[in-house]
Amino acid sequence: MFEIEVHDEFSAAHALRLYDGTWETRHGHNWKVSVVMRSEKLDRIGVVVDFEWLKPALRGVLKEFETISFNEHIDFKNDRLNPSTENIAKTICDRLKVKVPAGNNNACIVKVTVWETPDASATYFP
Ligand SMILES: [Zn+2]
Repeated sequence: MFEIEVHDEFSAAHALRLYDGTWETRHGHNWKVSVVMRSEKLDRIGVVVDFEWLKPALRGVLKEFETISFNEHIDFKNDRLNPSTENIAKTICDRLKVKVPAGNNNACIVKVTVWETPDASATYFP
């Protein structure tokens, strides 16, 4: 089994809907994101997927969230989805997953971790 990991960052704001129905005060984070992919075997050039594909693909996904407030993003607004770090990790994973090229080594995303602060993260395993 082979595994690769890439990291990237973006800045955005969010406010969580709390248990009592009120909103947390809107605030920003410099979110850090890691994506882990695995495959049993390497492709014909000897990689899980090319970093030169994965890094720009992740950047393309994160660009959509750069400097926004998640509460106004189509996937989250009007209480559609609470913009928790967990839901943000799943949203990033779902958007990246559809871009993974079909190859002969069945490389797949195994987890996406999002840190809202250096000591607080959430991981989604698709
Ligand atoms: Zn926060």
